[in-house]
Amino acid sequence: MSISIKHLSHIYDYGTPNETVAIENINLEIEHGEFIGLIGHTGSGKSTLIQQLNGLLKPSKGTILVNGLNITEGLSNLDKTKKRSKSEQRKLAKERKRKLLEVRKKVGLVFQYPEYQLFEETIEKDIAFGPTNLGLGESEVKARVKEAMMLVGIDYDAYKDRSPFELSGGQKRRVAIAGVLAMRPEVLILDEPTAGLDPRGRDEILAQIKALHDKNKMTVIIVSHSMEDMAKIANRLIVMNKGKVVFDDSPHKVFKEIETLEKIGLAVPQISYLARALNEAGFHLSDEIITIEEAVEALKKQLPAIHPKAQNSKGGKASC
Ligand code: ADP
Ligand code: MG
Repeated sequence: MSISIKHLSHIYDYGTPNETVAIENINLEIEHGEFIGLIGHTGSGKSTLIQQLNGLLKPSKGTILVNGLNITEGLSNLDKTKKRSKSEQRKLAKERKRKLLEVRKKVGLVFQYPEYQLFEETIEKDIAFGPTNLGLGESEVKARVKEAMMLVGIDYDAYKDRSPFELSGGQKRRVAIAGVLAMRPEVLILDEPTAGLDPRGRDEILAQIKALHDKNKMTVIIVSHSMEDMAKIANRLIVMNKGKVVFDDSPHKVFKEIETLEKIGLAVPQISYLARALNEAGFHLSDEIITIEEAVEALKKQLPAIHPKAQNSKGGKASC
């Protein structure tokens, strides 16, 4: 499952005084099995970009290929300026519907605060909504609901008949995520899935997303404001600013760019600032330290006298 984004732009309210260029000339290749963190200041275009990937928003310019299928062909939101005959319009609408169904099966999108979109009277019915709409039979839908609930750690028998509205914030969100997983997407995109949760709820959701990626080989794209989480979990970071991609690299490489990131309203993990401060005080730590574990390892090597289990018995300022 690969996604190829070419010259993608999105303009809201085109041709009106409120016209806003939300993303401009985005080019990205996303390969099967990647775990991508998408970061950027509020308004940088993250949500606009991910909503294009399952056809929820029509691009103004550019193309998106999902496994080679062009999901944007003939869908530009600037096309309405062209005159088309009724039959042409009908043909386009039909084609669009077919493509969208195809792509929504493959690319699952979890919105920001998805729990606000829970609406059924039981958890089972809520999670069943998507797969039922795919036209699947009753037993297949039930199997998928069970599977999705297991994946997000909510017991099927204990919870299936309960109202989603009785749940805690973190549980509600997990039910909402289960509703997308029940479509068995190959790519899972989540827009700030941990926003507003307490630390425990946050860690649980992240651990479940990580497990989906590792065990089920799912491609994951996660929009986040937590640099710490992204340092721990993502293999690739895409940084956006004012509708454009500024960095696209491994978290280790991206978080070296402290000055540029700060200029665009972002930060690096706290531990990277600490490593930098220690280096100013005479240590020789790598400038690619982004997690606490990496800092501990690097410090152990440089503090043999203090840390009895230190690897480097010669002491001194070994570079890590
Ligand atoms: P992010 O998710 O990074 O905060 P968005 O994609 O939501 O960024 O927004 C990018 C730009 O598009 C912003 O300038 C925002 O104000 C504008 N925008 C977002 N959604 C809409 C909309 N529905 N109508 C008009 N402008 C929008
Ligand atoms: Mg957003």
